[in-house]
Amino acid sequence: MRFADIGLSDELLRALSEAGYDTPTPIQAAAIPQVQMMRDIIAIAQTGTGKTASFVLPMIDVLANGRARARMPRSLILEPTRELAAQVAENFEKYGKYHKLSMALLIGGVQMGDQVKALEKGVDVLIATPGRLMDLFERGKILLTGCEMLVIDEADRMLDMGFIPDIEHICTKLPTTRQTLLFSATMPPPIKKLADKFLSNPKYIEVARPATANVNIEQFLVNVSPMKKREVLRDLLRTEKVSNAIIFCNRKTTVRELNTSLQRHGLRSGEIHGDIDQASRQKQLEAFKNGDIDLLVASDVAARGLDVKGVSHVFNFDAPWHPDDYIHRIGRTGRAGAKGKAFTFVTKADEEAIESIEKLIGNKIARLGKIEAPAEGEERVPAKRGRRTPSAKAKQARSDTPEASAQAPEPVREKAAAKPAREKSPPKAKIAKPDQPNGADAGDDGWNGPMPGFLSVGFSS
Ligand code: AMP
Repeated sequence: MRFADIGLSDELLRALSEAGYDTPTPIQAAAIPQVQMMRDIIAIAQTGTGKTASFVLPMIDVLANGRARARMPRSLILEPTRELAAQVAENFEKYGKYHKLSMALLIGGVQMGDQVKALEKGVDVLIATPGRLMDLFERGKILLTGCEMLVIDEADRMLDMGFIPDIEHICTKLPTTRQTLLFSATMPPPIKKLADKFLSNPKYIEVARPATANVNIEQFLVNVSPMKKREVLRDLLRTEKVSNAIIFCNRKTTVRELNTSLQRHGLRSGEIHGDIDQASRQKQLEAFKNGDIDLLVASDVAARGLDVKGVSHVFNFDAPWHPDDYIHRIGRTGRAGAKGKAFTFVTKADEEAIESIEKLIGNKIARLGKIEAPAEGEERVPAKRGRRTPSAKAKQARSDTPEASAQAPEPVREKAAAKPAREKSPPKAKIAKPDQPNGADAGDDGWNGPMPGFLSVGFSS
């Protein structure tokens, strides 16, 4: 089947062909005809399956006729994070370039003024994170009574982040005759309940998890003692053919410290996590996409669903607490048919989490020998708190949002960070460009540039 066979407009087919796509992915082939028929859908699909285009494409055609009115968006897409919201906006720009639709992005961390101005002009597509949307709604800046289509994307992650009450509230403000599309990687009971309450006779669509089926990602576990993680990482960056990599940490503090350490070693790295303002996050992401930096140190929430082409490696500097996060993390590499490698650092304390991951993916992951045995007393699991189960840890992971960070427990500091003198400076890694300053200003964060162009754009040709 080709896109030309599923009744999309010529303008969309042209934009798709310019983007290099002529064959729908399974989720697109299943969802697009249902959306065109105005059916509600529940789609069990993960990032990496092409799920974004599966709602963006038919929405563009459905919304092509009709005009937006002031403060009354015609459609609403709810996303759990700013990055995902921005990515959906990019999809609208890419595929909607031959349509005359307008869009606004409502996300936290950026000035509200421009967002309000965009809304007042009237928008066809409103892409929002629930918090910012509720905020503007309560100030009377938005009316949702003209909203014909609602997309709830990454519903299970919305649940993890505590957004379900907001979403329920938002659903009650939209017309009951709207069309609702719900996307989720998994279907835990609260999401099922939400779907039962707010969707009408939905078509159920499920596609395979991409990462479990993705034979393009070579996966490895690396036994390592907590103290040696940075050293082992730098070794791998040197010995592996790393052209660019995303390095995941479980805590914001670890993201910050690791990035500083990598930069100190002359590597071109940046960081994204929930405490970094939106403009800087966007800047770091652009720098990574453009190849201005080779390494992006990230937390789960900030990096969820990031779509960067040609990421050669993923490193789990910390083994993820939640097995689903493993799938999401490694899915940042091996995209669009390319090969990728994923290395997960495993300390003694991670064995339980690794067991859950292997159970979920249905495979044992290759272990790279015992690289470094932990020295006596080195395993830094706080004795008082003991070993947490992955689910308790997952709860803590949820605190990786700016709002929740105040309650987050003080992270376990790595000894190496407390004593930077322990870190020898090896020769520059292959991926560091020769002209890169070997200093702390290598990844300057102080960006004052404008917000990305999609804050409010008419994306006509
Ligand atoms: P998503 O699951 O929406 O995060 O999309 C994952 C990746 O698939 C993105 O890089 C898309 O650009 C790409 N993609 C979307 N549709 C197609 C398609 N029909 N064929 C190939 N790649 C696609």
